[in-house]
Amino acid sequence: MKDYASYKIIPVIVDVASNLKTINFYLIKMENSLVLVDAGLDNDDCWTALQNTLCENGFTVQDITEIVLTHNHGDHVGLVNRITAMHPIPVYAHGDAVPRLKRDHDFFRMRVAFFADIYKQMGCGEAGNKQVEYLKQAMLKGSKSAIHPDISPIGNNHLGFKVIHVPGHAEDQVALYHESDQILIAGDLLIQHISSNALIEPDITGKRLPTLIQHKHSLEKIYALSVDLVFPGHGILINEPKALIKNRLAGIERKAERLKILIQGGITTGDELAKTYYKKLYSTQFSLVMSEVIGHLDYLEDVGQVKKEMLNGVWHYSV
Ligand SMILES: [Zn+2]
Repeated sequence: MKDYASYKIIPVIVDVASNLKTINFYLIKMENSLVLVDAGLDNDDCWTALQNTLCENGFTVQDITEIVLTHNHGDHVGLVNRITAMHPIPVYAHGDAVPRLKRDHDFFRMRVAFFADIYKQMGCGEAGNKQVEYLKQAMLKGSKSAIHPDISPIGNNHLGFKVIHVPGHAEDQVALYHESDQILIAGDLLIQHISSNALIEPDITGKRLPTLIQHKHSLEKIYALSVDLVFPGHGILINEPKALIKNRLAGIERKAERLKILIQGGITTGDELAKTYYKKLYSTQFSLVMSEVIGHLDYLEDVGQVKKEMLNGVWHYSV
C-alpha cells in the first residue's frame, strides 16, 4: 500500500502462470471515494483477490464508487460485469474503448476484414488465414465477453489525476498521472520484466494505426514527465521508470536495425522477415510476431530508412 497526502493506493496483485507473472489492479481510497482502476481477468482468482483486498482494508464491493479502465483488454476489464451487476457504479474509459468493450458487431466485422487485408499485404499465407479464422470464431463468441454497463468517456482530469492518452499497446490506453506525487498508473505502457507489445489494430474507421510509433511516442511523453513510481498492469512496481523507458526505446532501435539488416540482405516481405527473425515463434505467436514486424517496418519507413512498393497486392520492402 502507498500512502499519499489525500489518498492511498492499494494494489490487488494476482499471480498468473503466463509470462505476465501477475495481473495488477488498484484501489484508490480518497476522502469520499473508492476508485477501482482496472478490473483484472473474469475469473475466480481475480474475484477472490479483490474481495480479500477489500476485506483486509475494511471495505466491501459495495464501497467501490467507480471503475476507471486503462484500456480495453480482457485482462484489465474482467470483473466489470460482476461488480456492476451487484452494485451499479459509473465506469470510465477512453472513448475509443467503447466499441471494443461493447463487442460492437460492425466494428468487429470490420476488424476481421482489416486483419485479412493486412496479412495478405504482408505476404502471409496459411498462417494468416488461420489467424483470420480464429478472429472470426472469437467474434462470434465475443458477445459473451461484452461489457454490460454504460461507459463514460473519461476527461483530461479525473479525481486529481491528469489523464494522459498513451496509445500503442492499445489505441484507447490512458495513464493516470499525479503531478505533485510524481506517480503514474500506467496500464501496460511500461512493464518491468517484459517489453509490452504494440499490437496492430485498426482505428474505429478501419484505418491501420501506426501502433509501434504511437507506443514509442507514448514512452517519450512519459519520459518527459517527472515520475518516480509507476504502477503497472503486470509485474512489480517500477521504481526507476526513466531508466526502463530508455531501455525500451533502445530495444525498439535495436530490433529495427536488425530488421533493416535482413532487408539489406534481400528479404523483402513482412512474412519472410517474421519467419527469419522469429523462427519458431512465428507459428506459436503469429499475431504478436506480425505486430512486432509490421510495427518496426512502420518505424523504419517513418524515419526514412526503408521504402515499400506493392507488387501483386503484397508490400515489398527495400533500403
Ligand atoms: Zn495487460
